[in-house]
Amino acid sequence: MKTHTIHYGVVKDEDHIIDEALVMIMRGPRTYTAEDTVEIDCHGGPAAMKQVLKAVLSHGARPADPGEFTKRAFLNGRIDLSEAEAVMDVIDARNDYALKSAVKVLRGSVKRDISEIRDMILSHLARIEASLDDPEHLGLEEDFDEEDTYVEDYLEPEKMLADTYRSVLGGDIDAAIRKIDRMTENYDNGRLLKEGIRTVILGKPNAGKSSLLNCLSGEERAIVTDIAGTTRDILEETVNMGGLTLILTDTAGIRDTDEVVERIGVERAKKAAEEADLILFVADSSRPFDENDEAILTEIKDRKAIALLNKSDLEAVVTPADIRKYAEMPVITISAKNESGFEELQNSIKHLFDTGALSYNEESFIANERQRQALVEAKASLLQVKQSLDLRLPEDFYAIDLTDAYSALGTILGEEVGEDVINEIFSRFCMGK
Ligand code: GDP
Repeated sequence: MKTHTIHYGVVKDEDHIIDEALVMIMRGPRTYTAEDTVEIDCHGGPAAMKQVLKAVLSHGARPADPGEFTKRAFLNGRIDLSEAEAVMDVIDARNDYALKSAVKVLRGSVKRDISEIRDMILSHLARIEASLDDPEHLGLEEDFDEEDTYVEDYLEPEKMLADTYRSVLGGDIDAAIRKIDRMTENYDNGRLLKEGIRTVILGKPNAGKSSLLNCLSGEERAIVTDIAGTTRDILEETVNMGGLTLILTDTAGIRDTDEVVERIGVERAKKAAEEADLILFVADSSRPFDENDEAILTEIKDRKAIALLNKSDLEAVVTPADIRKYAEMPVITISAKNESGFEELQNSIKHLFDTGALSYNEESFIANERQRQALVEAKASLLQVKQSLDLRLPEDFYAIDLTDAYSALGTILGEEVGEDVINEIFSRFCMGK
């Protein structure tokens, strides 16, 4: 049959018709795995599927391991490791942001950026190798002869070239380091946006914490999960808010009306200040500021926090200036009762966690800790090269570090990665992917 065609027919085991089906024939290399592929599209009911599967297995097929299709695509060279990992991120995406950045990686953005840096390194390595082989003509070093004066030395054309070359290499390395820094920064910010921003709501009793929580987790903003933690009073609620995910932690205390005043206040603030990515401080703007507000604000003043002046539908006695006396943070006026001010809150959160990562700019997003570690190693080696250049060490010194940087970056694409790492990565995939 011709490749990339669909055929209608029945699936038979011996003479027994199991189901009607469509069968797709796709010959490599233009397939997911780059190998010949047949897909059977039968009716989705469990009985039909089970029998078709049984028939296929009895004729010599075997079930795929988790992630095996993507692993084969990688091993056959159709995609690199960053793209393979992105497949999993697309599947696991919890919000618009996570999906968008995963698809970008899947489309090869990380591969492109990493390859660019590696190509640069490789061309310098080639140049350095050449100079080591043929120092006479391609030497990068000024050889100081006792009798030469420095000025004369400097004026010789090859030696000028040597200096020019050093500055070209130095410039290229600076550019690569800047790029690596941006990728790691994007990752650190993006991670929170992808996995969720661990958020704690603080405020004295009756400020409106539980009303705020209800608004945030209201039906429109959809609670995704209610995860009961290991201890009774850790309850997490995941809230999607305009493409952002907030993981509201320690919400049990808020909903529990018998909670002792002390715990709601300063004690929680202390803990939250240690653990949360974001603190939402709720103040009742219709009542004067008191020592509870002050104590909480003082506790959180150095953290990423947003102050919410709640009950804006009532006459205000607290102003943004009152908050700023204690801590420098964005202040937003809201009414949990009227559900007003939430758009501003959303924008403020975006602003707080945005250093370009949210603007979906042209820069790429690395996907995980493994890739981040590789960038950290590559950067360390590149900094080493810079140092060797500054110290004017012989070229074999920086050749070693350039090679190390090249290898470290290669691991992101799946080059020079051990089989154990590959297996570990694909074992995290789900079945059939
Ligand atoms: P918590 O103790 O901080 O959790 O505060 P609650 O959410 O239980 O709210 C305390 C009281 O303030 C309740 O009677 C709420 O109905 C009321 N409240 C909360 N938010 C607002 C608001 O925006 N406007 C008004 N007028 N009342 C509010």
